[in-house]
Amino acid sequence: MLNCKDMTRLISDSLDQRISFRQRVELWMHIAMCGMCRAFRANVIALRKRVREMQTPSPEHLAPDERLQPEEKERIRQRLVRHE
Ligand SMILES: [Zn+2]
Repeated sequence: MLNCKDMTRLISDSLDQRISFRQRVELWMHIAMCGMCRAFRANVIALRKRVREMQTPSPEHLAPDERLQPEEKERIRQRLVRHE
């Protein structure tokens, strides 16, 4: 029987698809009984999701102009015109 310390490693590995079927069965059996490892797994998944979101630029970052309200655009346009 694996302990919780072994599990934390196995959980990370499982998210990278690096574990065998047997290991996966042990992981799920442990997680079914152990609330701590269930919580740990949820945390790791949430953390990875956040990291992935940070690495992938969202459409907002690609087209900042599209986020502006029409009145903001107009204000910027006015300012530019005045500088000419
Ligand atoms: Zn555990």
